[in-house]
Amino acid sequence: MRDGTRVVRAGLPDAAQGEPFLPGPTFASLYHLTGDPSTSAYSYGRYHNPTWTRFEQALSELEGGPALVFASGMAAVTAVLSVTLQTGDALVMPSDGYYTARMLATGYFASRGIEVRLAPTAGNAQSELLDGAKLLWLETPSNPGLDICDLAELIAAAHQRGILVAVDNTTATVLGQQPLELGADFSLSSDTKTLTGHGDLMLGHVAAREPSWVEQLHAFRSQQGAVAGPMEVWLAHRSLATLDVRLERQCKNALAIAQSLVAQPGVRLVRYPGLSQDPAHAIASRQMKRYGPVVSFVLEGQAQAEQFLGACRLILQATSFGGIHTTAERRARWGGDAIPEGFIRLSAGCEDTQDLLEDLAQALATISTGEKNHPSPDER
Ligand code: PLP
Repeated sequence: MRDGTRVVRAGLPDAAQGEPFLPGPTFASLYHLTGDPSTSAYSYGRYHNPTWTRFEQALSELEGGPALVFASGMAAVTAVLSVTLQTGDALVMPSDGYYTARMLATGYFASRGIEVRLAPTAGNAQSELLDGAKLLWLETPSNPGLDICDLAELIAAAHQRGILVAVDNTTATVLGQQPLELGADFSLSSDTKTLTGHGDLMLGHVAAREPSWVEQLHAFRSQQGAVAGPMEVWLAHRSLATLDVRLERQCKNALAIAQSLVAQPGVRLVRYPGLSQDPAHAIASRQMKRYGPVVSFVLEGQAQAEQFLGACRLILQATSFGGIHTTAERRARWGGDAIPEGFIRLSAGCEDTQDLLEDLAQALATISTGEKNHPSPDER
């Protein structure tokens, strides 16, 4: 079956007379349980929940390996790092990947005796740091820079050395790229973003090639204890059904926006893996089935970026990405990433393409590059 059918049907129970297609959330911390607990599929709410089970089944079908749901993307990141790494191990991470994951590694994990080696995503630079490492962490396309590494090549290089590979697949989603199929040991994602796409919940998941890793992740989740609520997981399952149609529109909008930005004076360094002139397009077109909703570009400085964002009428200012509403932000407002002050991360939503292009054009037209009332930090 093709993607559009798979996401609509993923994880649904078999048809049964009088039963709903997707049963509602099960709100339960305890279940009827007599005698030997192993005789029951459900015993206590921190270990399992039927609403999780259905969503995890859906994710497993799409990922091609058993999957577990976590309370957020960062909870999924924490779980993979925790079950794979011990004191004395080395972790190779992108220097340009998601900031909070890097902070977790270089802060919490480094302080507990994990050696963290950082290199950029572009040019497969992480391959230089592999010798003696335990885990290679990849994020492609990287957030926010949208650089891409060659998954098959890096996974093969790591496996030759006995190194595990985890891929943060948040920006692409499982319909855009299939890390387990490309050989990765773990595929994980923040499902807060494109996978669920409505900006109404926090969630994450991990899929693994080896069921034994899933057992360890399950034990970690149960013991660590910050589990997902059934309502969030049910909403996520319901939203998953439209992933194919959402992505179809979002990718179309992202490409149209990127193409129109390239032609605009005062806009530099437009990045979108689907743009034929993007430096990462060749690798992206080999390993990605869709290029995702995120586009980045650079305006002259902080003042121009703020002016552009303030002038947008349809494009909303917010952090995060992947939702049905088109959003944008000046990413350097957070600090932490090596990006210019005028760097904009834009996430294409599901609005009408022409309306978005018109909003973009009118907002860019308000930028007066000649007037420099507020010199930007990169000009100082
Ligand atoms: N991984 C990537 C690539 C992200 O962009 C994010 C969030 O922005 C996360 C992980 C963390 O996800 P969450 O915010 O759901 O904890």
